[in-house]
Amino acid sequence: MPLPTRAGLDAVPAYRQGRSAPAGASKLSSNESPHPPLPSVVEAVQQRLSSIHRYPDMSAAALRERLAERYDVDPAVVTVGAGSVELASQLIHAVAGEGDEVMFAWRSFEAYPSLVRIAGATPVAVPLNSDHAHDLDAMLAAITPRTRLIFVCNPNNPTGTVVGAAELEAFVAAVPRDVLVVIDEAYVHFDRTESYGAGVELFHRHPHVAVLHTFSKAYGLAGLRIGYALAPVEIAENQRKVAVPFGVTDLAQTAALASLDAEGELAVRIDEVVVQRDRLHSLLVTAGWPAVASQANFVWVPAGDRTDELELLLREGGVITRAFPGEGVRISAGSAEDIDRVQSALSTQTAPQEARA
Ligand SMILES: *Cc1c(COP(=O)(O)O)cnc(C)c1O
Repeated sequence: MPLPTRAGLDAVPAYRQGRSAPAGASKLSSNESPHPPLPSVVEAVQQRLSSIHRYPDMSAAALRERLAERYDVDPAVVTVGAGSVELASQLIHAVAGEGDEVMFAWRSFEAYPSLVRIAGATPVAVPLNSDHAHDLDAMLAAITPRTRLIFVCNPNNPTGTVVGAAELEAFVAAVPRDVLVVIDEAYVHFDRTESYGAGVELFHRHPHVAVLHTFSKAYGLAGLRIGYALAPVEIAENQRKVAVPFGVTDLAQTAALASLDAEGELAVRIDEVVVQRDRLHSLLVTAGWPAVASQANFVWVPAGDRTDELELLLREGGVITRAFPGEGVRISAGSAEDIDRVQSALSTQTAPQEARA
């Protein structure tokens, strides 16, 4: 007798983690912070280690109150999760099931299609436009009576493009009130355009908007797994029902609070990453690669059939990237030393290459 399997699971791809890096190589495959944790954050976590025989505060009250104050919202609309990927999953489970549709742009965050399928709902992927950005008109046109949730990843992973604040607001206003628009701002801290902060603004102004933020990228806590959402209160209540109990550890909550205390220091680090991102982009363009200008902590190179070539060139130079076969390579903005390595790897190219659109 075969072991039981759930119908439909064959269609769900397992999440693929960014390649691990051999010792000494630059790991630019997972959009992590290149900086080690702040000493103050390490110290706060160390002080809590003696309590790990206790369950965490499942309601994450201290952190939620802190965030509520910061965004001038009721703590009831703030939810925390084991990374914002868990919150994306909670939101889908909170609003969509069998026969419902969940929309996102494509290519966008790799986890969306699987999370939608796992919830039993149907993913609807709307192609990015020729600028590698969200095609909001096409997304509006793709709404059906079964649409329950729409993700807008802003800045978009893996392309680094942003939707402007006004454009995003016009989109939100045109989406029916019974469809939840989830603005995934995992990379918002690196955005130097006027769309910075648009998600929270829209949450305040529209009843059918949720925003996702994470401590993994700009705040450097990827290994501890913590993110938060602002969502309409009824949705937040349902998120708590579908959440796996005790998913967010006390250490993660402690580190998140300590990071909020150290935002000045973190801002300096974020600025450094932005400098390296822009440097990475111009190095690639100068070397003839069709790199897309980015507002995130990575750069997308839609290299098409030369994807393997670029991935290999960088790997041989000690730089591990995220390649999407036949489509392109995503390179995280690491430290200055990491990007020095990219520079030397690119300089070993045999001949200058023609840029492709
Ligand atoms: C990295 C990422 C997340 C969440 O990461 P967590 O570590 O789960 O917080 C969410 N959305 C996008 C688009 C991401 O790239």
